[in-house]
Amino acid sequence: MSYKSDIEIARGASKALIQDIGAKIGIESKDLLPYGHDKAKVSQSFINSVQDRKNGKLILVTAINPTPAGEGKTTTTVGLGDGLNRIGKKAMVCIREASLGPNFGMKGGAAGGGYAQIVPMEDMNLHFTGDFHAITSAHSLLSAMIDNHIYWGNELDIDTRRVVWRRVVDMNDRALRQITTSLGGVSNGFPREAGFDITVASEVMAILCLAKDLTDLQKRLGDMIVAYRRDRSPVFARDIKADGAMTVLLKDAMQPNLVQTLENNPAFVHGGPFANIAHGCNSVIATTTALKLCDYVVTEAGFGADLGAEKFLNIKCRKAGLAPSAVVLVATVRAMKMNGGVAKADLGAENVDAVKAGCPNLGRHIENLKSFGVPVVVAINHFVTDTEAEVQAVKDFVAGQGSEAIVSQHWEFGGKGAEALATRVAEIADADMANFAPIYADEMPLAEKIQTICKRIYRADQALMDQKIRNQLKDWEAQGYGHLPVCMAKTQYSFSTDPNLRGAPVGHSVPVREVRLSAGAGFVVAVCGEIMTMPGLPRKPAAETIMLNDAGEIEGLF
Ligand code: ADP
Ligand code: MG
Repeated sequence: MSYKSDIEIARGASKALIQDIGAKIGIESKDLLPYGHDKAKVSQSFINSVQDRKNGKLILVTAINPTPAGEGKTTTTVGLGDGLNRIGKKAMVCIREASLGPNFGMKGGAAGGGYAQIVPMEDMNLHFTGDFHAITSAHSLLSAMIDNHIYWGNELDIDTRRVVWRRVVDMNDRALRQITTSLGGVSNGFPREAGFDITVASEVMAILCLAKDLTDLQKRLGDMIVAYRRDRSPVFARDIKADGAMTVLLKDAMQPNLVQTLENNPAFVHGGPFANIAHGCNSVIATTTALKLCDYVVTEAGFGADLGAEKFLNIKCRKAGLAPSAVVLVATVRAMKMNGGVAKADLGAENVDAVKAGCPNLGRHIENLKSFGVPVVVAINHFVTDTEAEVQAVKDFVAGQGSEAIVSQHWEFGGKGAEALATRVAEIADADMANFAPIYADEMPLAEKIQTICKRIYRADQALMDQKIRNQLKDWEAQGYGHLPVCMAKTQYSFSTDPNLRGAPVGHSVPVREVRLSAGAGFVVAVCGEIMTMPGLPRKPAAETIMLNDAGEIEGLF
């Protein structure tokens, strides 16, 4: 049997007018700012008007450690949203926007897959409503104003060797990672080393996704550290006087984007910070607004639960005062087999022993999530190649952990395939079983916060931090940043810092190579391993096969 590609399915969607989607969640036409017929931003005045309403239940979708076999968090998030609507619940989905650059490399799309997708998926994976372009522009304005300040006399006394604000572009372009700017003579300024990151790695992106409103956005933009003086004192974006104009450029990008699923259910797709040097979830404003409009809001955190869910819970929920009622942990038989040592090429054959051997990875994530005080359900995202015996092995393992696993077939059948999962998730959410708390307090010293995550989530013996790093953390504490949460930047493939160490490793240590302060976003980044903030393209980039067909439709985009 052959299956349609994601884009073929998406193209066949019968989309409702975006005004009709808005009506389903009580947003009148006058409160929608349409971008064509199938996308709209929600007005700030509408968002303000719903603030006093009671919140719906928040459901987080996360996963085991990712493998090249693919886990399907977004697909499951969309499928669960449709499943909840099918069983008569008022539910919506909140996910991230796609970064344009990686779509031309090798990453899959960001709109879900099979019959559980957000549409229009082509738009969502390309320019969408221009939010990321606005972020690139706001970021670039600050970059330009810093060099301009230096050019006109450097009144702030910036040490040009210590400009930490880099440049961004939404493209995978390794040639720009490290560059020299202002070459070519006196009128071009003072040559200095600089470099580009991809737009989603910009602190502006993290801020847009954590800010409560435009006032909070401007304050946080002003708080960003852009450079240091010779005496090491920080220079802020506010000192460059860039925060006001940046806020103007971001005014529309701050409004959540309303789109729909293949089954015409509402979805907010808004924001998309990196999941390593940032927190990796859609915007706070989209999630908090959705909670005012629906009884159930299903959202996703990037990477596996050790990184994505940990940051969702310790950073986003802490900052925004959110508390999930249930967590759905996505696992696949294929990924269990890979964790159990099977190579990607051999995933097609039944191998119950390998499934069993891979399950400890799942077990550890279940335990970790429970330690936040949230009930966990495992969703087995069903692939058509899964066998009965393999699925049963996962179910038995999960039952042995005192949890339950439910098979979900949304990829193949849409919301209908996710009814069982939706029914159980709604039951759990309605039972108010959650007693959520972050795993460390604001007051805990920064080094101890890092130790806590490494020991309790990664199950490492310790985090290794040399004196230089400890001193840096102490300095930040003295400067008033000690209450910030920690944002871990580590490989997503393992609980350890070794991407090849699958399963549930013990006895490892986590070396912290570097710490960075994102003073505007409001977290301290602990870099544990090689972190790429400007990806490159592979030898055969997807871009080579993306084109328009004779009908003017896009081909090759997944
Ligand atoms: P994640 O959000 O975890 O990165 P996605 O939901 O984006 O993963 O899915 C990644 C890819 O895997 C998509 O192309 C999707 O179509 C595919 N996929 C997801 N679930 C299934 C499934 N059950 N069967 C086949 N393909 C799937
Ligand atoms: Mg995803």
